[in-house]
Amino acid sequence: MEKQQLLYKGKAKSVYETTDTDYLILHFRDDTSAFNGERVEQLARKGQVNNKFNAYIMQKLAEGGVETHFEKQLSDDEVLVKRLEMIPVECVVRNYSAGSMVRRLGVEEGMKLTPPTYELFYKDDALGDPMVNESQSIALGWATAEQLADMKALTFKVNEILTELFDQGGMILVDFKLEFGVFKDRIVLGDEFSPDGCRIWDKETKKKLDKDRFRQSLGDVIEAYEEVANRLGIEL
Ligand code: C5P
Repeated sequence: MEKQQLLYKGKAKSVYETTDTDYLILHFRDDTSAFNGERVEQLARKGQVNNKFNAYIMQKLAEGGVETHFEKQLSDDEVLVKRLEMIPVECVVRNYSAGSMVRRLGVEEGMKLTPPTYELFYKDDALGDPMVNESQSIALGWATAEQLADMKALTFKVNEILTELFDQGGMILVDFKLEFGVFKDRIVLGDEFSPDGCRIWDKETKKKLDKDRFRQSLGDVIEAYEEVANRLGIEL
């Protein structure tokens, strides 16, 4: 299978077609963006770190029974994936309050959420990814009720698997975002799982080890991503 033309350039990854129409190649770039693309910087090593991080997590999820688009790591910053028809609805689970929940609801950061919350966002840069609900997603034709039910069940399953995994490394999985797509009529996990799309805190000190270090200009962004990877035993 060979790499063909660029299909789409996202904020952190570029997507290439391959000679097989069922597969795509994702290239993880060093670009790091925040505030809906308003701030973009190059952070050395980020593409490689996130590619390896994502490969490890996707394999753990597959072992846990979550079907993902991950096929094979091709190089330090490239991965072969199944070509999904993406559903434009992002799924967010929160175990602790942070980020937009704190801003929107005026609650303190770091409150344990029992049970964890589940939110949907419409993936649209021009609109700033607004929060939506299931009935809007169905009525507007973004997903069927069955697809949304599968996405919710899979997102909570991912939460179960990864909460345990990060806990073993002395970390708290605060929240995360997933994107799903359809492959041969099945709902399959797509996009990536990396510190760019989740919040991870040290269990004892609550030190932030994720993209909030970039958003909040805390410094040592990639060093923190590498620390998380090391604690999970990921070879970088
Ligand atoms: O910003 P907010 O608190 O809603 O984000 C919830 C989680 O989803 C965070 O882990 C954040 O990194 C992730 N997220 C993302 N991409 C977006 C929006 C949120 O990865 N477009």
